[in-house]
Amino acid sequence: MIAASRSAWPLLLVACALRAAASEPPIVPRPALLEPRAGSFRLGADVRVLVDRGSAAARGEAEGVAQTLRAAGRPRASVRLVGGGSARPGSVLLTSRGALADLGSEGYSLVAGPGGVVIRARGAAGFFYAGQTLGQMLEGAPAQSALQSVRIVDRPSFGWRGLMVDCSRTFWRRAYLERTIDRLACYKMNVLHLHLTDDQGWRVEIKSHPRLTRAGARFAERFHEPAERQGYYTQDDIRALVRYAERRHVTLVPELEMPGHCNAALVAYPDLSCTGGKYEVYPYFTGPGIQTDVFCPGNDRAFAVMEDALDEVIRLFPSKFIHIGGDECPKDRWKACLRCQARMRTEGLKSEEELQSYFVRRIGRFIASRGRRMIGWDEILEGGLAPGAAVMSWRGVAGGVAAARMGHTVVMSPTSHCYFDYGYDAISTRTAYAYEPVPKELTPAQGRLVLGAQANMWTHIARTEPEVDRQLYPRLLALAEATWTPRARKAWPDFSRRLAVQKRRLTALRVPYQTVEGGPSEWPAAKPPLPAAVSSSSGVWTTYTPAFAFDGNLATYYWNDRPIRTGDTVTVTLQQPTRLRLAEVHTGRPGVEIARMHHGVLEVSEDGQTFDTVATIADDGVARAALQGRPIRAVRIRATADQGTNWLMVRDFVLKAE
Ligand SMILES: [Zn+2]
Repeated sequence: MIAASRSAWPLLLVACALRAAASEPPIVPRPALLEPRAGSFRLGADVRVLVDRGSAAARGEAEGVAQTLRAAGRPRASVRLVGGGSARPGSVLLTSRGALADLGSEGYSLVAGPGGVVIRARGAAGFFYAGQTLGQMLEGAPAQSALQSVRIVDRPSFGWRGLMVDCSRTFWRRAYLERTIDRLACYKMNVLHLHLTDDQGWRVEIKSHPRLTRAGARFAERFHEPAERQGYYTQDDIRALVRYAERRHVTLVPELEMPGHCNAALVAYPDLSCTGGKYEVYPYFTGPGIQTDVFCPGNDRAFAVMEDALDEVIRLFPSKFIHIGGDECPKDRWKACLRCQARMRTEGLKSEEELQSYFVRRIGRFIASRGRRMIGWDEILEGGLAPGAAVMSWRGVAGGVAAARMGHTVVMSPTSHCYFDYGYDAISTRTAYAYEPVPKELTPAQGRLVLGAQANMWTHIARTEPEVDRQLYPRLLALAEATWTPRARKAWPDFSRRLAVQKRRLTALRVPYQTVEGGPSEWPAAKPPLPAAVSSSSGVWTTYTPAFAFDGNLATYYWNDRPIRTGDTVTVTLQQPTRLRLAEVHTGRPGVEIARMHHGVLEVSEDGQTFDTVATIADDGVARAALQGRPIRAVRIRATADQGTNWLMVRDFVLKAE
C-alpha cells in the first residue's frame, strides 16, 4: 500500500468536474477525470482483449479483464497477445507504453472511441481497475448498443480503502469472505482486515499451539444456545483466501488481539493470564461485556506464545501491516498481579498504562524483526509508541490526529462515519459519503501520513450473512468513493444518481442492501392501517415510538428502552372490534437476534381486557395466527420470561380483516 494524499494529484486533471454529470456513465467510485468525447463506440459479444506482449503487468491481468467483460454481457470476450500498441475498432488494448508516470501503481487511463478502447497503466492493479471501470460502463448496455466515447484518467486518492470484518464474534464461511472480496474489488477497495481473535473466539489455526482453536474456536449456531461447534480457518484456508484476494488486488490484513480481548486464548492456555483461570467462552454478548482477564505482561510465556502465533500468521499473510488490536484492555488484574508488578519495577514503569505500552512495544519489536509493521487501535498510543508503528483511529478522529502529529502512519475508521455495525439511523449512506479521511486539524505534511480509511463491521449483533450485507451495502459504496475520488469530484446528488444504478446491479447480483435509512425523524409518518392505539409496558428509546409497531411498514420499528422482563407487553388496541382473518407480529430486525422477543406469545382479546394466547413467537422473532373472523378488539405480545440484556424492537403487527 502506498500513502497517496489528495494534494499529490494534479489539479489540472479535475478541471473537467463541471461538465454535465448526466452524460457520465454511472461508475462508482467516480473517476478522477472523465471527459465525454465526440462519437460513439461498440464492444460486441466477441470483443478481443489485445495485450501488448511487452507489457508484463498487462499480460497478468488480461484474462481477468476478459472475465469482467464476459460478466458484463460480452460472453465471447477473448484474449490475444499482440506486438506493439495500436488499437482496433471493437477491441480493448492493454499496454504500459505511454502510461503517465503519475498514475502510480493503481492508476490507469482509458480512452474509448470508434477506433477501439485503449487502456494504459503502469501496474497490474491499474489494469485490473480499468477492467472494473469498463465492466461498469458496459453492464446493462447490450453488445450491439452504441456507447458514448470517453477519456478517463483515474487513480485513487488514498492507498488504504478498507473493510474490517469481525470473524471472532461470528465465524464467517470462507465462501462469504470470498464474495466480500469480489464486491470490494469491483468498487476498487483494496484492504480486507480480518479480526481473527477476540474474547468470543480464536479463528485461525496455529500449528505450534493447537489448543488456541481446539478450545478457543467453539461457536453456537444460534443465539442463547451452548457453544458446541468449532469455527476457524485452517492454514490451507488462509493460503487459499490470500491467493483469492491477491488476484483481485485486495490485501488481507490479519489481526490477533492482545493484550486484552483475548478470553478465547486464555480458555486454551489459562497460564498466560495473571490469575490462571479457569475461563470459558461466552458466545456473543451473553456473558459479561469486555473481559477483565487479559494476557499477563509479567509472564514471558505470554509473549512467547503470541510471538509463535504471530510468526505463523506472518508466514501466511504477505501484508506489510500486522494488526495486534491493543484496544479496551482493563488493567484490574495487572494491578493485583505480583509478576506484573515485578515487571514494572525491573522495567522502571510507573503505571499500568506504561505496562501496556511495554507490552505493545515488545510485540512491535518482534513484528519489526520479521520485516513487517505493527498497526493497532488508537489505544496503543497510550504510554508512548515505537516509531514505525501505525495507528487505526476508531474513537473519533482524535487518536488519528495525535498519532499523525507524532509522526505515525494512520488509518482512519472513526465511529462517527465508519462503524457499519451501527444502524443507518446513526450513520446513513450520506454520512458515510461525506467522510473526509484527512482530519482538518492536520498540516498538509501530517495529512500525508493518513493512508486512508476503512469501514469496521463488528458482528456481535448482525450475525447472518444477509444482515451483515444490509449493514455494508450501500454504505460501502459511499466509502469506496470517499477514499478513491478526489474531493472536488465528490457530490451527493450525483452519487445518488449513480447509486440508484448500482442498487439495480446489487439486486441483480442478489446482494441484500438496506432500503430505509435514517431514524424515525426521516421515516414516513406512522399511520395505523386500521384505526388503533399502540402501547407498551416499557418505555421508548429516543423517538422510536410504539406507533411504528403498527404502521403497515416492516422497515420501521418501535424500540423500547430497557431489557425485556417477564410480563412485558406491546398492545395494539383497535378503535372498533374488527373481524380478523390473521394476526401476525414481527419482532427484531432480520438477523438482529438480540432485538427479538425470544420467549413470548401472541395474544388476542375480544373485549380488550381478557387475552387468549393464539401463537408462540418463533426463533426468528415472528408469530402468526389464523383467527377465522373472530371479532377482535386488541392484539398484543407478552414476554413469558426475562430475556437477559435484550431490548425489544417490534417492526410491525400485521392484522388482516375479513
Ligand atoms: Zn500479570
